[in-house]
Amino acid sequence: MQKHQYEVVVVGAGGAGLTAALYASRNASTAVISKLYPTRSHTGAAQGGIGAALGNTEEDHPEWHAFDTVKGSDYLGDQDAIEFMAAEAVDAVYELEHMGLPFSRNPDGTIAQRPFGGHTNNETGKPVRRACYAADRTGHMILQTLYQQSIKNQVKFFDEFYVLDLLIVDGKTAGLVAMELATGEMHIFQAKAVIIATGGHGRVWETTSNAYSYTGDGVALALRKGIPAEDMEFYQFHPTGIYKMGILITEGVRGEGGVLINGEGNRFMETYAPTVKDLASRDVISRAMYLEMKAGRGINGKRFMNLDVTPEVVNHYAEIDGRKNPDGSPYRVTASDILAKLPDIIDFCETYIGVNPVTDPMPVQPTAHYAMGGIPTNKYGEVVVDEKNTVLPGLYAAGEVACVSVHGANRLGTNALLDLVVFGKYSGLKAAEFANSEAYVDLPPDPEAYAMQQLNAIRNSSGKENMITLASEMKSVMAEHVGVFRVEEGMAEAVEKVRELKERFKDVRVDDHGSKYNMNLIEAWELSNLIDIAEVTAVSALARKESRGAHSRDDYPDRDDDNWLKHTLAWMENGGVRLAYKPVTMTKYTPKARSY
Ligand SMILES: Cc1cc2nc3c(=O)[nH]c(=O)nc-3n(C[C@H](O)[C@H](O)[C@H](O)COP(=O)(O)OP(=O)(O)OC[C@H]3O[C@@H](n4cnc5c(N)ncnc54)[C@H](O)[C@@H]3O)c2cc1C
Repeated sequence: MQKHQYEVVVVGAGGAGLTAALYASRNASTAVISKLYPTRSHTGAAQGGIGAALGNTEEDHPEWHAFDTVKGSDYLGDQDAIEFMAAEAVDAVYELEHMGLPFSRNPDGTIAQRPFGGHTNNETGKPVRRACYAADRTGHMILQTLYQQSIKNQVKFFDEFYVLDLLIVDGKTAGLVAMELATGEMHIFQAKAVIIATGGHGRVWETTSNAYSYTGDGVALALRKGIPAEDMEFYQFHPTGIYKMGILITEGVRGEGGVLINGEGNRFMETYAPTVKDLASRDVISRAMYLEMKAGRGINGKRFMNLDVTPEVVNHYAEIDGRKNPDGSPYRVTASDILAKLPDIIDFCETYIGVNPVTDPMPVQPTAHYAMGGIPTNKYGEVVVDEKNTVLPGLYAAGEVACVSVHGANRLGTNALLDLVVFGKYSGLKAAEFANSEAYVDLPPDPEAYAMQQLNAIRNSSGKENMITLASEMKSVMAEHVGVFRVEEGMAEAVEKVRELKERFKDVRVDDHGSKYNMNLIEAWELSNLIDIAEVTAVSALARKESRGAHSRDDYPDRDDDNWLKHTLAWMENGGVRLAYKPVTMTKYTPKARSY
């Protein structure tokens, strides 16, 4: 066992972790632990853009961005945090630019911007160009830029180290326990401040856009240490994943003029969202697609729709919509425009399904995409552990793992990358400030004991149960009953099933008994994290008797602000889940019915 000491330890080397490390390292000794090599983090897969009201091509304001985010969140987002994020967005994007991020450009050299779902001109209600992008590789560019800067700033990296436990002593953060994947050796990190930035958990569901590494490790670590998870019932299904595969087709495709077409050849979003149509927010579009498919209007009666970005179709609908270029000329595209703006999308479609989006439509279906819920924090990234928002000293969370909450019941496209850089920054600054004024907390006598006990339980289990079977039973019950549409009986069945899987997991089989790169053991560990998350998600969803944002119930179809305008907190306790609620922070936006 090896011991290390750093004032700030960040878990995760995606956009949030790297931003946090960059800022923390300016004032405190900082290390980053990552189970993946940093540039393999899921941030690198983000395509479409990062939102900021730069107003480079048309009028826009941070206040409009804030209101769109509040509305997109179906009024569940905390308005103080949302206003903060929208105001910080402009500087955050320029800061990335100054670090060297190669954004796509307008002819005048300013950062190019495109429309994205839910981003509007608040006066006309029409889509506004707010997404700053680097072709369809925005996340890749952000990740590479931040990694280079971190190396330059001499942040210490522990790559391919897997964090197994969070050390909390007398209610204060003391450090972490991690396994070095190459050797199987345990490492103890003593830290004054820990920042959790481990990303999301889309692998709970069957069809997902998420990386295989999206197993919710951070939320599971926290839950096991008595920290609640917030708003876990709100999980976003992105409308356009490749049929059956889930690989994401960015909303940027619709931003460039692509439209969704049903089996009757109609642009069905005209009916569901007459003003913004294909640029309505994601929950609205995913539901519309399901309703169309349920009514037998999928393509050839199947459970997918066509997403069409061929120049003829884009130009046809641009003419109908009266869409204009920033200079006022009619918006028209050519095949080479599509190639230049969506190179990766074209490449994915050709590689995985043999379709060229410049000449043929893409088959798409809703895909599990983004966790609005997670570890509760305030707008400085400090983890808060109860209904009164009491801060747990020395613990921070940022990025998809955290619930600030700026996304509320539904996240707008481009606001996740923004969340990473804004809240990554503040958690890094706050963690370093905390570290400068506090002493290290003494480690417990056997810091690795709890992690070892859990690992040994997996290693020494009877081996009756196959991991893949357990995982696929979880994914299918969650997709069927805790997916885009939900009802009481289905969710109750999911809770029961997940609890059964939790029991059966105790007999899980691990075939590899070695210590070097034992990914078999790690996969079992990750599955246990996913099962915990599935349980908390299903229990939180079952309790919420209303429809709001991504949580849509057939048996309670309306939003119920009188009873449910509140955040869920869920603790894992006594072999079950305990729920409590806390109020939503309101500033100036009063809840209204959503219309698009
Ligand atoms: C395909 C796709 C496209 C997207 N496109 C956009 C977009 O265009 N715009 C937008 O705003 N958002 C987009 N999103 C969402 C956004 O990209 C993510 O929410 C965001 O990148 C998450 O960043 P993160 O830093 O929180 O986590 P990640 O980038 O996933 O990083 C997580 C890190 O945690 C580490 N880690 C995890 N568990 C452990 C552990 N147990 N021990 C040690 N390390 C651990 C990993 O190694 C990794 O380094 C997209 C998401 C996907 C999946």
